[in-house]
Amino acid sequence: ERTGAELRLEGLTVGYGGAPVLRGVDVRVPAGTIVALLGANGAGKTTLLRTVSGLLPAASGRIVFDGVDLAGVSVEDRARAGLAQVPEGRSVVAELTVDENLRLGGLQRFRGRRLTAAVDGIYGMFEPLARRRRAAGHQLSGGERQMLALGRAIIAEPRVLLLDEPSLGLAPRVVAQIMAVLRGLRDERGLTVLLAEQNVTSALAVADHGVVLNLGEVVADRPAEDLRTDSALRHAYLGF
Ligand code: ATP
Repeated sequence: ERTGAELRLEGLTVGYGGAPVLRGVDVRVPAGTIVALLGANGAGKTTLLRTVSGLLPAASGRIVFDGVDLAGVSVEDRARAGLAQVPEGRSVVAELTVDENLRLGGLQRFRGRRLTAAVDGIYGMFEPLARRRRAAGHQLSGGERQMLALGRAIIAEPRVLLLDEPSLGLAPRVVAQIMAVLRGLRDERGLTVLLAEQNVTSALAVADHGVVLNLGEVVADRPAEDLRTDSALRHAYLGF
């Protein structure tokens, strides 16, 4: 079983041609911890995650995964090394069943009986999915789709998981279930998670550390506990 790896961003600057959207961002996600990436709509969270997974080029700065600079490493090789991303919008294959979606995700690492065992492991974490294993992706509820997107990413035992707004539009009970799975993966496997969320309360409830982005810059980098309990800090950086 693979364990988590450290992810480090150093002076990351990224843009879309005009003024940079991320400007000299430093973030450290120690192995086996959950870091919440917070900030208003448009702060640059999605841009940051897409740069780490290799979908967007960095203008400058470094992305260091398990001590290795990822400059020039393709999206596919990043995934093979254990970097997994669950994009906003919970992409699953609409025409395939839950079972087929999971097997497809697991194929990156497992075959045969080990693949079946890995799929069963996901059903153990997400019981609603087990009941829907023969339903097609397009028949699932939003919560079931998010669980499937997450299941498909974690089945291959990633070392670092990047999540973009998993709670968006979901009922509080489903959000709690998803956060509990993340907490379990961190505690039991030492998975490293970078969790972009606008749902600050849910994210800080599981995170070890919180990083607040504003207009492409890190404005706060604190233990989650401080952001949870210090109302002056929350007012200053999170607006509530
Ligand atoms: P959201 O909650 O909407 O995902 P975010 O914090 O993830 O917000 P980004 O999506 O990274 O923020 O966007 C940061 C900035 O980059 C915004 O000003 C946005 O308009 C701009 N931006 C995002 N994608 C593009 C693009 N493809 N081309 C040009 N500008 C973009």
